[in-house]
Amino acid sequence: MALLDTLQQENPVQVIPEGFDEDKIPGLVDEIFTEAIQKRASDIHFKPLEEKLMIYFRIDGQMLPHKEFEKLYHHPIVARIKIISGLKIDEHRLPQDGKSSFTLEEKEVDLRVSVLPTNFGEKVVIRLLEKSPTLVKLQDLGMLPNVLLKVEEKLKSSYGMILAVGPTGSGKSTSLFSMISTFDATKHNICTLEDPIEYKIPNVTQSQINTEIGFDFPDGLRTIVRQDPDIIMVGEIRDQKTASLAIESALTGHLVFSTLHTNTAVGTIQRLLNMDIDRFLISTAVKLIISQRLARKVCNYCREQYAVPKKYHDLLRKEIDVNPEEAFFYKSKGCDKCNQTGYKGRIGLFEVMEMTPAIEELIVKGASNPDIEKKAVEEGTILLRKDALFKAVTGDITIEEALHIMS
Ligand SMILES: [Zn+2]
Repeated sequence: MALLDTLQQENPVQVIPEGFDEDKIPGLVDEIFTEAIQKRASDIHFKPLEEKLMIYFRIDGQMLPHKEFEKLYHHPIVARIKIISGLKIDEHRLPQDGKSSFTLEEKEVDLRVSVLPTNFGEKVVIRLLEKSPTLVKLQDLGMLPNVLLKVEEKLKSSYGMILAVGPTGSGKSTSLFSMISTFDATKHNICTLEDPIEYKIPNVTQSQINTEIGFDFPDGLRTIVRQDPDIIMVGEIRDQKTASLAIESALTGHLVFSTLHTNTAVGTIQRLLNMDIDRFLISTAVKLIISQRLARKVCNYCREQYAVPKKYHDLLRKEIDVNPEEAFFYKSKGCDKCNQTGYKGRIGLFEVMEMTPAIEELIVKGASNPDIEKKAVEEGTILLRKDALFKAVTGDITIEEALHIMS
């Protein structure tokens, strides 16, 4: 059935205005995809309201309104998206999931389409995933120079566990891959277990977890250790079984990389304890914990510095020992390069805790989190809040973004 017929059938009293042309819908949808990719959006939201259809882009973690259409465009646009992603056009009452892809200037992007019935009609959210995203180099993640040195040093270990922790969307896997890609994959047997596989790395053995057929992280780990690995990457430690197998692998001569969903470096130890991992094993196996967040970077093209306002003077003196009279904060007005938002790209904020003999001892003794953290700071760990403030005075992020991360 032609789109316009469907439209008229469902909205019998609606008068189709003159400018409306059904044939233009595919082009219009393509245009939205093109703009989303050009603006580096991670998601496109087609949100129906009572009177209109709103399109939003999520860029650098932020939802930004992109365009609005008359309500009349809602059904045809949704129908077009359903067609290209293999969904049922005449199903309006049930949620649907589909897939498609879109190519722009040789860049292939996967589209993960989700349709949800709402009181104002179907809402579509499309996640855009680059087919071969570019790996970020370890030195470009945004680690302070001495933090980077500490990480590079630990990467020379021949066994042990290196963890990247943080909430969803904090850039954990990007960090893991940037570390893994510092190894020569033709000289080391590097195996990964992922869900899903995001980056494709040459010469690395990557396996996709598929729980539906019973191929889970513990299964994969048991098999990988039989495949003579040097370096193992486990996408995420979610349960006791995976945790204990990963720790065991780290203690038997393998370098193991993984992620955990915890908020602080020190909180990771508690999380592993909660998964029934022995204190002694944690202190021996874990070599490095990198807790991280992603912050929006100030646009370099329209960035301006300004004097640090009085109300932040104490904060700078106390937290990072910087003289506020000589420091600056930065803000951006917005320009064409940053879609008038003042932000462009993202930068990691890091809290890196290494397992030193003193920390090991505290863990084995059952010391509290604040005590372990205090010791880590004494031994040079820069906490996330401090890293955020440093990046505010160096002009990478705004003070507002830093405070947001610190809250
Ligand atoms: Zn700008």
